[in-house]
Parts: sequence; structure tokens; C-alpha cells
Amino acid sequence: MGIHLSNIAFNDYLEKLSEKYRIFAPIVKEGKGKFAETNVVGYGEIKTLEEIEIDKKSYFSPKEIFYPIRETLFYFTDNKIEVPKFEEKPLVIFVRPCDLNGVRKLDTIFLRNGEAVDFYYKRRRDLVKFVMMECTEGFDTCFCVSMGSNEAHDYDAAIRFEDGSVSLKIVDDALMVENLDGQENIDFEPEFIKENKVKVNIPDVDKVTKETFNNEIWKEYTSRCIACGRCNTSCITCSCFTMQDVSLSDDNRIGERRRVWTGCHVNGFSDMAGGHSFRDKNGERMRFKTMHKINDFYKRFDEHMCVGCGRCDDVCPEYISFSKCINKLNEIVKEDSANE
Ligand code: SF4
Ligand code: SF4
Repeated sequence: MGIHLSNIAFNDYLEKLSEKYRIFAPIVKEGKGKFAETNVVGYGEIKTLEEIEIDKKSYFSPKEIFYPIRETLFYFTDNKIEVPKFEEKPLVIFVRPCDLNGVRKLDTIFLRNGEAVDFYYKRRRDLVKFVMMECTEGFDTCFCVSMGSNEAHDYDAAIRFEDGSVSLKIVDDALMVENLDGQENIDFEPEFIKENKVKVNIPDVDKVTKETFNNEIWKEYTSRCIACGRCNTSCITCSCFTMQDVSLSDDNRIGERRRVWTGCHVNGFSDMAGGHSFRDKNGERMRFKTMHKINDFYKRFDEHMCVGCGRCDDVCPEYISFSKCINKLNEIVKEDSANE
């Protein structure tokens, strides 16, 4: 069951919805591209359908809306700590199916990874409703079908953008609005992409050995990767952060503790007190990320971490392709197991 709305009626729906929610979607950010006077597609607050960028993939994932790049965890004085007040308006976020699957992996890390639940993540995440944007074509670097992330079903609403109108399926009654003009009841189920241009073959986790970790393949990435961390920050499933204590007084007795995104490719990420670094070489960091995304996470949670959105390929200034890396790794694992 769904409803069909003209674009005008859908804008009326968004206007009514915005009384209760802040609404975010992929939008064109003018002048924010990587070169002067170029644009980039990222997430931003919208009021109308016309602001939503439907035809291009967003360069950044939607995670920054409910998992901020920088967040103050608490303020401290001599003998007191205080968690900042939090009175956010609920959020509606338009996402593609791969990102909706990616959010589930973030939830796994922050909410279902052991007994402790991440308080800061949860209080924002609880406020979010997702509208899934039907995605049947994909983009050049996507490999969601290989990762099994082309379909998602745990949406609060789903939408198909048509020429001058939309089809909408509202699952969560909290997204219903009253007195909507021009509403026509229809049968609507979102469809999903069935094939990407890029395909990956994921190595069998039971055949990955210590030799896989020691393979020469990783040296290539030491010479190519510049440790910029773009692949981490653009990834919907990268969740790592670091802590910063910031002094707010001359005598350092008042301050705040922040958490700030970081990632396994970034210099200093695996440094310990005393100066030892676990993954000094950039190829070792690529190995860690790759194994985490398509091997280790699976062993712990029974699903792969990567959703095949292809953003890491899109953003890498060194043209390092994660999908090609997975395929190379698969060949190595196959060769190694054939030689056993
Ligand atoms: S590793 Fe790359 S392809 Fe996989 S989810 Fe992250 S950004 Fe997307
Ligand atoms: S985006 Fe490319 S160069 Fe930058 S850290 Fe990732 S793999 Fe390395």
C-alpha cells in the first residue's frame, strides 16, 4: 500500500513534516567541491523536493547527521563534570538502500557490541527516521549487489521519484501527516538494483590465513596511499573516533572532552604511549581496513561491514580502488588455498 503525490503535494507533505522533524537529504553544495568553484553532493537540511539531488551519489555518507564529526562529551571543572544538554528535534533522513544497511552496521558497533551502549550515539540515533530512496540504476563505482546491500527493508518510509510526482510508502505512522491534498492511494513497493557494473568476489573467511596478511600485495599500498583518511571519513560504516581534551581556562582547570572522527588510515591512529605504532606503514593500514571490512567484522557479527557504496573509490586522491583490492585479495586467497 502506498500513496501517489504530485511534486506540489509532496512539498506540502514536507512542509507539514518539518513542523515535527528536521529533514536531511543529499543536496548540491555549491563551491564546496575539491577544486575551486566546483560543487559537491553531500547531506544538508532541505525544505523542498527540488533541493534533493536524486541523480548523483553523495560524496559523503549520511552518518555525520546523527554521528557528528566532532562532539563534546562533557565539560569538566575541578570536581564536576557536566554532559551538554541535548534537545534536538527529531530527524528524517533520505538515504539509499546501501546506506540504510550501513546504518545497521554502525548500530552494531555503537549499540550491540558488548554490554555497553554508546550513550551519545543512542540519544541521537533514537531521533532518526529513514526514508529510503529507491535506487535501481546505481553508479559507476557501486558494488552493493556483491555485498548483498542493494536491498533494504527496515525503512520508515520508501520513495520513488517520478516525473513531476512521487510514490511513497509510509511504514511508520509517525511520518503520516493529516489533511494532505491530492493524495491517491496506490500499490507501491520499492524496487532494487539487480546488477552493478563493478562486481567483487569476497574471499572465503575460512581460507584467509596468516600468509594472506603477510602477502606482498599490501606493499603496493604503502607506496600509493598518502594516509589522507578520506576513505574512512566518507565511509558509512567507519565508526572510529579519537578523544581530545581541550582546555578552556589559562590554568587548565576548566575544559571539555570531545570525540572527533578519525580512521585507520590516518597517521597516529595506532600509536601508543611510548611511541610504538602498530601500523606504521600505509599498506598495513590498508590491510587492516580491508580485513576489517570483509573478514573480521563478519567473523564477529555474521555479516560483512562494507556495503559496497563505492565512496572510498570515489574520494581517493590516489585512485586506490577498494573493489579492485578485494578482488586481488580473493585471487591471492584462492591461490594460497590451492597450494596448500
Ligand atoms: S569500505 Fe568503501 S565501499 Fe565499503 S562501505 Fe566503506 S566507503 Fe563504501
Ligand atoms: S583515500 Fe586513498 S590515499 Fe587517502 S587514506 Fe584512503 S586509500 Fe589512502
